[in-house]
This record gives sequence, structure tokens and C-alpha cells, in this order.
Amino acid sequence: MCGVGPLGHNGDMRAIQITEIGGPEVLQLSEIPTPEPGPGDVRIRVEAAGVNFIDTYQRGGLYPVELPLVLGLECAGTVDAVGPDVEDLEVGARVAIAQGGGSYAEHRIAPADRCVAIPDGVDAVVATASMVQGLTAHYLAHDTYPLRAGDRCLVHAAAGGTGRLLVQLAKAAGAEVFATVGSTEKAALASAAGADHVIDYTTTDFGDAIREICDDERPLDVVYDGVGASVFDTSLALLRKRGLMATFGNASGPVPPVSPLTLSSGGSLFLTRPTLFDYIATTEELRARANDLFGRIQSGTLEVRIDTTYPLEDARAAHEHIEGRRTTGKLILTP
Ligand code: NDP
Repeated sequence: MCGVGPLGHNGDMRAIQITEIGGPEVLQLSEIPTPEPGPGDVRIRVEAAGVNFIDTYQRGGLYPVELPLVLGLECAGTVDAVGPDVEDLEVGARVAIAQGGGSYAEHRIAPADRCVAIPDGVDAVVATASMVQGLTAHYLAHDTYPLRAGDRCLVHAAAGGTGRLLVQLAKAAGAEVFATVGSTEKAALASAAGADHVIDYTTTDFGDAIREICDDERPLDVVYDGVGASVFDTSLALLRKRGLMATFGNASGPVPPVSPLTLSSGGSLFLTRPTLFDYIATTEELRARANDLFGRIQSGTLEVRIDTTYPLEDARAAHEHIEGRRTTGKLILTP
């Protein structure tokens, strides 16, 4: 089915498009043509776009991108135009998406099979906040290392967007959760999310603290690490024999190369560097994860915390916010 709804238009739209790699100052508001959906695509009228650390890696050049680029992997909104060969979405459908690009805009194009339907009772802001960070927390806790009751896990940056959701999912799975945070305010948020042991790693050596709590040199089954360079070595040294290090991000900088012999001498350790897109590779897996998250939100067992909502034109301030280590939940842009 192909068509354009009452919200569609053919003029220009406002978007944050980067034409060069650099700091937050390269995020400039532009007027660019409103895109038209091609075969298999829909156009979303964006109600909320999410800001993720990944956006800063793309803007700053750590993750290579082609320019010019409208940033933003995730958004939620309403389908306002449908391209040819789309079977299961119509104009007016409420959808969210976690990948591709173009979300920092009034409209974006999305492959229909990469969209998830937003259920009643979940608003666009919460749906957006459930995408990249929610889906990431979901695959880490359930598939990268499927947590079981009694497992001991460490979640770094536990008051951040991904971290706070991961703490909640780990507790729901019955794990004992160790959490690191960068301030007293963040410690309170990680505790409220359910973390059993919260350590401010800016003032305390988290390795020593965890060993002391457990009375064990290598007590952890798994470390979920989105912080990277500054915590990697200490984290690896906390894993039990055959424990798993899931290094999934670089908030403090990328982890330097690791010799396989380090894993051997550490006790036959496993090391993985997962990325969300391999855990939502099929439409079925994407929608199953999203629906599980939405179900938990609707039943009140998963709380999505919105930190700050910025107008689209303040994308620069949002990037300074997340890179400045100040996030305690999701940052949203509203066009
Ligand atoms: P967060 O809201 O968690 O923000 C990052 C947090 O990292 C900060 O709040 C801060 O918490 C901590 N941090 C530690 N050192 C620094 C530093 N030097 N500069 C800035 N922050 C620092 O962001 P996201 O939830 O969006 O992302 C978290 C991580 O997960 C990122 O590394 C991101 O790339 C990664 N990610 C990976 C995915 C994947 O599939 N591989 C998918 C989604 C995200 P504190 O002050 O408590 O230390």
C-alpha cells in the first residue's frame, strides 16, 4: 500500500545535519527537503528523537559516517507517508525505530521492517527511550550473558541511560547487581533502580570494594561495560574462571587491544564486543525484544527515566550534556 496522509507535505523540513566531523558545534540546524519514502520504506513524522552516545561517536569521527548526515538512530512518531511494497504499515500508525539515521529532524525515512509498533499507553518519548538503550540492555541481560538467579554482575555507569535499564533487567532476572556511578546523586538513582551494591568509582577503587564485599578475589560472573578504557583492566581482573567480559561501549575512550593470553591467564575468560544491530538483525527478533520491553513498561516493572527534553535546535546542548558525563536517563530532542 502506498500513500501520503494528511500530515505529509512536500516542502522543506528542519533537521540537524552535519557537514563535517567535529565537536558539538558542528550540530547546526538546517532546512533540507522533506524526504520521500522509497520501496519498502515509510516516512515518520518525528515526535521524539533520542540522543545516544553513539551519535557523539559518529559526530566526532570514532565511528566513520558519510557526510552530509542527519544524525540520530532512534525516534518515535507517526507514519505520514508509505512507499511502494509496504504491506504491514499504514499512514497514521504509531511506530518507533532504533537504527539507520535521520532522526534529528521533523521527518525521517525508515524501512518498514525495522519499525516497531508502539502500543497504547506508551507515549512517543518513552517509546524512543526504549529503543537503543532499552534494546541494548535487553540483549545484554538476556542473550550476551543470559543472567540467572544468583549470578553476580557488574554494571558500569549504572545511572546512565543504558545502565539504569540494565540494572532493572538484571534484578528482574534474579542477579546480584554491583553498580558503578560517577556521583552521589547517581548513586541514589542506581540504588532506586535496584542495584544491590553501588560504588562511586570516582572516589573509590571499585575492584577493591567488590572484592571486599564478596570476600573473593574474582567474584563476578559477568561485567557489562559501556565505559571502556578507564575501567576495562580492573573489570577483567574481577571475573571468575570462565567469566564473561561484555565490553559494549567507549564512553571514556576505546579499550586498547587485548592479548588472548590475558584471557588465558585470567582464568579462561570470555571477551565479547557486542553491538545492538547483531541482536536485532531480524524483524522477528527486533519486535520480540521491543514488545517485551513495552510489556514491562506497561506493567510497571521497568521504569524508563527521561533526563531532559530539548527542542531540536538545541542538539548541541544535548551532546554537551551526554559527553559532559551528566546524563541520568534519556535525552530527547523534540522537533
Ligand atoms: P549514558 O547515559 O550511560 O552516558 C554515559 C555514561 O558513561 C556517563 O553518564 C558516565 O556515567 C559514564 N562515563 C564514564 N566515563 C566517562 C567519560 N569520560 N565521559 C563521559 N561519560 C563517562 O550513555 P548511553 O546509555 O547512551 O551509552 C552508554 C554506553 O553504551 C556508551 O558507551 C554507548 O556507546 C554504549 N552503547 C553500546 C551499544 C552496543 O550495542 N554496543 C548500544 C547502545 C549504547 P558515570 O558518571 O556514572 O561514570
